[in-house]
Amino acid sequence: MFKTEYVNRVYNDLKKSYSAEPEFLQAAEEILISLEPYVMKHKEIEAKKILERFLEPERLIEFKVVWVNDKGEYQVNKGYRVQYNSAIGPYKGGLRFHPSVNRSIIKFLGLEQTLKNSLTSLPMGGGKGGSDFDPKGKSDSEILHFCQAFMTELYKYIGPEEDVPAGDIGVGAREIGYMFGQYKKIRGEFNGVLTGKGLSYGGSLARKQATGYGLCYFTSEALKHLLNTDFNNKTVVVSGSGNVAIYAAEKATTLGGKVVAMSDSNGYIYDPEGIKLDVVKQIKEVERARIKEYTNRVPGSFYYEGSKNIWNTKCDIALPCATQNELDLDAAKALVKNGVICVCEGSNMPSTLEASKYFIENNIVFGPAKAANAGGVATSGLEMSQNSLHLSWSFEEVDSKLHTIMVNIFKNTLDKAIESGNKFDLVSGANIAGFEKVCDAMLAEGI
Ligand code: NDP
Repeated sequence: MFKTEYVNRVYNDLKKSYSAEPEFLQAAEEILISLEPYVMKHKEIEAKKILERFLEPERLIEFKVVWVNDKGEYQVNKGYRVQYNSAIGPYKGGLRFHPSVNRSIIKFLGLEQTLKNSLTSLPMGGGKGGSDFDPKGKSDSEILHFCQAFMTELYKYIGPEEDVPAGDIGVGAREIGYMFGQYKKIRGEFNGVLTGKGLSYGGSLARKQATGYGLCYFTSEALKHLLNTDFNNKTVVVSGSGNVAIYAAEKATTLGGKVVAMSDSNGYIYDPEGIKLDVVKQIKEVERARIKEYTNRVPGSFYYEGSKNIWNTKCDIALPCATQNELDLDAAKALVKNGVICVCEGSNMPSTLEASKYFIENNIVFGPAKAANAGGVATSGLEMSQNSLHLSWSFEEVDSKLHTIMVNIFKNTLDKAIESGNKFDLVSGANIAGFEKVCDAMLAEGI
């Protein structure tokens, strides 16, 4: 499959060892495809086994989480933390609470996170974690008890200079608050061990908005430099209706786009007049209800069962912001047939390998997640800086730093794409730009 014996061997060994980890292998394959030309030019990578060392996490911690539900019944869940790579800084990456969480998902996310964090140019290594706990339908006290039980195990492995987790799917401000409270109680320390904290106890303004806003800043740069256009008067489809999706839709609207469709895991809404975000925020952030509810509140809007069909909606710009592998080849073909000009990823690995290849082959502007959604972790990095300095910056200050970071990520990604021979191949651009720094640091640090 690969041109060189070395990369082939690395991938085949990985496949042999981790045949039960499809998401991890998918992420590794995409990265190796991009990195192969770079590896061919830098012989020390093979000599010092950098690819083998880079693809294997430094450690993967698995633990059980035992807690008691409202009925007094004992519950057992699995907890994970992958500390993937610390070559350029302490491990950093979110925690995901979702029934699909397993080793494969956590490892793919940790690997992607390592390159993403490097792209931000901030000193952060890669990590990720979570649990197969399903927060859906749980009471507030059940969430509290689970978060406390989870942190009672996790606290042993994290710290502000070692490993700094944040939120991800199923982990928002409430869960971070409960986990921070438990960490503080156990350790007797008040520090920046988690990011995504509430404003009253060390959080950063604009962190909540950062991934979605950053995605739109990246998309704007891509539209400007590759197609000489912008969001103005463009029809936009955003999948998901969680943290990333809501603030991506908000910024896309501010920049002149019209968001016409959003989804949750059951189905999607279509509003030809443009989605009313205050209604979505009320339903998803306040009531924690289903997106279907939107049609009861906004006349002239529609609901369709089945979230995947959202990609049949005609649009100029598509922003997948829900979950991995939510956009397959059929969906990519439908989008291109309907005239999409730009697809930028808010969620992690939403496009299958075939879908992303199809976009690039058709000269669709395609912003891969590790570059396009790096605004969240970049702003987490800014939260860490504020915590260390015991300062808090204004919303405008953080937002402006976020904007500058996203502009630079796009520039570095584009430069590497051009060097690799196709300015539309931002996938290779992002992988090479992220890997270069990690690789240099690994070589400099010896073994
Ligand atoms: P949330 O839990 O806030 O929201 C996830 C959203 O996606 C929910 O609306 C959920 O619906 C929906 N969803 C889940 N599965 C599907 C599906 N199969 N089809 C359609 N919709 C689905 O998570 P976030 O917004 O924080 O994260 C979304 C993605 O962005 C993830 O891939 C995450 O890793 C990535 N990301 C998040 C960052 C952050 O700062 N939060 C940073 C960088 C990346 P339902 O309510 O039905 O479950």
